[in-house]
Amino acid sequence: MAKRDYYEVLGVEKSATPEEIKKAYRKLAVKYHPDRNQDNAEAEVKFKEATESYEVLSDAQKKQAYDQYGFAGVDGMGGPSFNASAFSGFEDLFGGDFSSVFDSFFGGGGGGGRRGGRRGPARGADLRYDMEIDFHSAVFGTEREIEFAHHAHCKSCGGSGAKDGSGKKSCGTCGGAGQVRRSSGFFSIAQPCPTCGGEGVIIENPCTSCRGKGLSRENVKLKVKVPEGIAPGKKIRLGGQGDAGAQGGPSGDLYVYIHIKDHDHYERNGNDIYCVIPVSITQLSLGADVVVKTLDDKKIKLKIAGGTENGKLLRIKGEGVPHIHGNGRRGDMYVKLQVQIPKKLNSKEKEILKQFAEKHGEDDQPTPIRLRDL
Ligand SMILES: [Zn+2]
Ligand SMILES: [Zn+2]
Repeated sequence: MAKRDYYEVLGVEKSATPEEIKKAYRKLAVKYHPDRNQDNAEAEVKFKEATESYEVLSDAQKKQAYDQYGFAGVDGMGGPSFNASAFSGFEDLFGGDFSSVFDSFFGGGGGGGRRGGRRGPARGADLRYDMEIDFHSAVFGTEREIEFAHHAHCKSCGGSGAKDGSGKKSCGTCGGAGQVRRSSGFFSIAQPCPTCGGEGVIIENPCTSCRGKGLSRENVKLKVKVPEGIAPGKKIRLGGQGDAGAQGGPSGDLYVYIHIKDHDHYERNGNDIYCVIPVSITQLSLGADVVVKTLDDKKIKLKIAGGTENGKLLRIKGEGVPHIHGNGRRGDMYVKLQVQIPKKLNSKEKEILKQFAEKHGEDDQPTPIRLRDL
């Protein structure tokens, strides 16, 4: 089989720094590690390929030989047939405990299935659902019905995978342990037993509707309560609504990811709301009352004092987004006053402005003002 270039495997440039190489490998190792990819031959190949690439490219001497002579340069240097003593980087790369890497990457307890020597049917996968809601619903909360498909426990066999009344016997390959340990060069990997799929037992007479898997694909409708004040990118966990585990294993969770549509007039920053109110030169110069509509359609009168600077930010307290689980606490609303310069003036309006300019006096050599003094 033709081998892929080590740089290509890791997806890095030839000029990549050791840190970039390490980062690229770490990403691939987490993705394709056998503990996370049970019964996935392709992942195993990718994992080995990435490990071999890293083993060479992380070693200055081997990297140089490889850069110069290609695969021929690293053959016999422990390249393709790496061994434990030649490779000590794994522990410091992952802090010695591989499972903690998964925990930190995937939020712990996630759909990683069985770990270590734990026995029993594996937990089903966590699922993701992307939900888009409008601005207003995110601010004040909403309830939505969603429809999605997941693996449920097979109804014919109750998820056991065994045909009515048929029993299970201990697996001969692993002696009932459910896993076999395999040495993969520099460290040994516990893998689910290929004969029993990690169950430790074999079904004598598999259920015909699910072929022994114990699962069936089902469409589900669910109501999702979105709390008020939810922020974009947050997810809502629905426990046990992910895929059911094979052969009676527990179900994973469903995560609903929240996306929030833009509003035509308002912007949100945390729990505060921002908007711009167009005003005229005369309103800022002479002072005026303007009415601003809040998120819940309240009309609030704002007093603009005479001589107010363009761009001034006015705060309306407590008219922002409710804090999530905040017992009625809310952020504020900020209104920026922005002068609109009239684009079309008739001759009379021009005349009035000219008169004003003459009276007021205009400086054709204005003194600059520092930006931060505005
Ligand atoms: Zn079944
Ligand atoms: Zn077995």
